[in-house]
Amino acid sequence: MDRGMVVTNQEECKGCGLCVEACPPRVLRLSAGLNRYGYHPAEYSGSGCTGCGICYYACPEPGGITVERLVKVA
Ligand code: SF4
Ligand code: SF4
Repeated sequence: MDRGMVVTNQEECKGCGLCVEACPPRVLRLSAGLNRYGYHPAEYSGSGCTGCGICYYACPEPGGITVERLVKVA
């Protein structure tokens, strides 16, 4: 099971790509589609997030990225 989960806010994203470059396991990408501002928003590839939070700190847009760190319940 992945250690983290990331959600990008498609409508707040300006498509700068900083999170895509910053993510160590490279699990973020810019989507092919456009948002309402005409940017290609970042999206999660769907697996491999470690919950490190680096993308959250890299993003200049408030509310652009939400990271959840998942813990295993014994
Ligand atoms: S939390 Fe870490 S591993 Fe997950 S998408 Fe962000 S930078 Fe990548
Ligand atoms: S860093 Fe933020 S604004 Fe830039 S592409 Fe990623 S989610 Fe979008």
